Amino acid sequence: MSAATAADPLEAIFQRLIANHGPISLAHYIGESNARYYAAKDPFGAGGDFITAPEISQMFGELIGLWLADMWIRAGRKELVHYVELGPGRGTLARDALGAARRYGLEPKVHFVETSTELKDVQLAAVPSAIWHHDLSTIPLYGPVLLIANEFLDALPVRQLVKTAGGWRERMVGLDRGSFVPVAGAQPMDAAVPEARRDAPEGTIIETCPGAAAVVYEVAGRLVEQGGAALFIDYGHDAPRDGSSLQAVHRHRKVDPFAMPGAADLTAHVDFSALAPIAQSRGCRWLGTVPQGLFLRSLGIEARTEALAAQAPQHAAALAAARDRLIGEGQMGLLFKVMGLAAPGWPEPAGF
Ligand code: SAH
Repeated sequence: MSAATAADPLEAIFQRLIANHGPISLAHYIGESNARYYAAKDPFGAGGDFITAPEISQMFGELIGLWLADMWIRAGRKELVHYVELGPGRGTLARDALGAARRYGLEPKVHFVETSTELKDVQLAAVPSAIWHHDLSTIPLYGPVLLIANEFLDALPVRQLVKTAGGWRERMVGLDRGSFVPVAGAQPMDAAVPEARRDAPEGTIIETCPGAAAVVYEVAGRLVEQGGAALFIDYGHDAPRDGSSLQAVHRHRKVDPFAMPGAADLTAHVDFSALAPIAQSRGCRWLGTVPQGLFLRSLGIEARTEALAAQAPQHAAALAAARDRLIGEGQMGLLFKVMGLAAPGWPEPAGF
């Protein structure tokens, strides 16, 4: 929580802070901006700023619920089992997934990790039995964990290093005539860059997400200790990449990430190639990182679309459009990836 009151515009707080103490880190800027953003409103859907996969179609949550139920059944149907969702948004994915899982006998305890009080009310309406947590530390330590995070890791603050004429520096947020602009920090950061990368050309930017690394570390440890499986779904890449992927979305349009802190959704691409080894370092199984289109197709989204269309022919065109949006190569099918993790001894998964 910042020292100022919630009514104080975030721009004014940042301007004072930078004017008095110099540039702030990108992670500070993103963290405060997104805390404001998600605390203030429900940004999803056609009337909001962006739309996510579970809001596009019930098929998304249903197929994930079936994936979880299949793993749970083949792992021996433990009665005490936890469904854990990170950043559940409107609770739509959980509602659809739990509905599908229930048909196969899976009725887990439901835990939501969420910091936005505004969204908690919406989530309560969708899944009244859920228990809320601020972070993973209060999730029970006994019983397998079935964990889902859709578009959660991309909302966590990134840090960036930039190569300047004077060596590597942290990329910070400064002020130029009242506007926020990226600037190179004053302190040398060469030691923070892997040796193999130090000679990169001037202007090279390296991005990391310590928050995502910490979450995957914790989840992998829980899976190893308690059993279970996890799916992290986000837009991103499965090989390291240079450059800034920070972006801002406001009312379905990309805007300058430095233009309206707290009023636009700030996200960055997830570097899945950095996360898999973190999970493995804890003895957890990495099931793979696959494009969302491939994952949903192998779980049967095409047959599910046809079955729903047969029940409600008047919705056939809308169902086909939603399916294409979720799996189309120029839409979400390739850019979005699904990373699966499982406890040692848990079954081979579908979809990977
Ligand atoms: N999974 C949902 C929402 C994605 S948006 C969907 O697919 O529709 C990101 C979600 O993560 C929001 O619910 C937001 O409030 C939550 N969130 C962002 N940062 C968080 C943090 N540090 N801790 C817990 N929740 C966070």
